[in-house]
Amino acid sequence: MMTPLHVLDVAVIGAGIAGLSCANALTQAGLNVAIFDKARSAGGRMATRRGEFASFDHGAQYFTAHLPTFHEVVAQWQAAGVVTEWKGRIVAWDGTKFEDADGKTRYVAEPGMSGLCRYLLGELNFFAQHKLIGFDREGDGWRLDFENGETAACRRLVLALPAPQSAALLENMPELQATIAGVIMSPAWAVMTRFSEPINLDFAGCFVNQGPLSWVARDSSKPGRPAGEAWVLHGSPSWSQAHVNEKEGNVSNALLAAFRNLAGIQIGVEELSAHRWLYAQADNPMNVGCLMDASGTLGLAGDWINGSRVEGAWDSGFQLAEKMLST
Ligand SMILES: Cc1cc2nc3c(=O)[nH]c(=O)nc-3n(C[C@H](O)[C@H](O)[C@H](O)COP(=O)(O)OP(=O)(O)OC[C@H]3O[C@@H](n4cnc5c(N)ncnc54)[C@H](O)[C@@H]3O)c2cc1C
Repeated sequence: MMTPLHVLDVAVIGAGIAGLSCANALTQAGLNVAIFDKARSAGGRMATRRGEFASFDHGAQYFTAHLPTFHEVVAQWQAAGVVTEWKGRIVAWDGTKFEDADGKTRYVAEPGMSGLCRYLLGELNFFAQHKLIGFDREGDGWRLDFENGETAACRRLVLALPAPQSAALLENMPELQATIAGVIMSPAWAVMTRFSEPINLDFAGCFVNQGPLSWVARDSSKPGRPAGEAWVLHGSPSWSQAHVNEKEGNVSNALLAAFRNLAGIQIGVEELSAHRWLYAQADNPMNVGCLMDASGTLGLAGDWINGSRVEGAWDSGFQLAEKMLST
């Protein structure tokens, strides 16, 4: 990126669903906005990994909608063909039997969960591979320093990052840092695997309430995915924490063994990999919507401020944009 010759109205750091929601609302209001992410693409924890013959949503599995505002945008995304209802049967395993889980409406993006964030990125001014490493006051705005040596200047700054990553950047703002210091975000291991033969299980997803797994899903049962037996297996919070520094290969084998045990199968796999989410979800989300500093020029958004899920993250970014537009 060239260092912008002009000062941005708003710089949004983090192109997950919270940052994208905020950046879109501010852009639609006519502001000059840029969005930056340390990763090569947008999406954050709404991530999709392409395998050899399969794709895997290894972060967020699906999302639900409760707020009227969110229902409205979900309907727009459905009309645009980006989001579809996932109608597969969802069950829960209590250690002895599979039972139907709640009858919630679950939405997924196509062709993978990251597809929604790519769609929301649209025409936004996006700078990938820009990891913010520090920022400081400059005039009545902010100067931003990125790891790649580039800089930017903005009147207002939005951090839409997991709580620990936001806190690490708030060294010069001890009050705001202290406000969020207590938010704990736990790790989660995700294993992605494709089996060589069909598996005879009559569900698409299962909450596993026992042992090392917390959730397993037949990813290939979601709309728009390649055919096959692609599964995502999530380690439970306690198992993931206990194995946070384990090698990927060991994690893959352990969670695959737990799944084979659950499913009562010995079928071979043709793809197997693992991903560690260091900050998967907040144990104790703040549930205050969003946060802003006293000057009204620095805002924080993210799932950990608002319910810990996709809907909360989207709403947090949206609320922050509304707050910034009204002050
Ligand atoms: C394993 C797992 C399963 C989940 N399952 C579900 C589910 O089924 N349903 C549901 O609703 N939710 C689920 N969630 C939660 C959901 O994924 C999150 O609530 C939501 O995606 C968070 O969005 P966000 O924008 O707040 O943060 P993120 O998606 O984490 O976005 C933050 C972005 O900031 C970037 N970043 C970080 N530091 C910097 C920096 N210094 N400079 C620049 N960029 C930076 C990151 O690269 C990232 O793209 C799950 C999460 C995980 C990990």
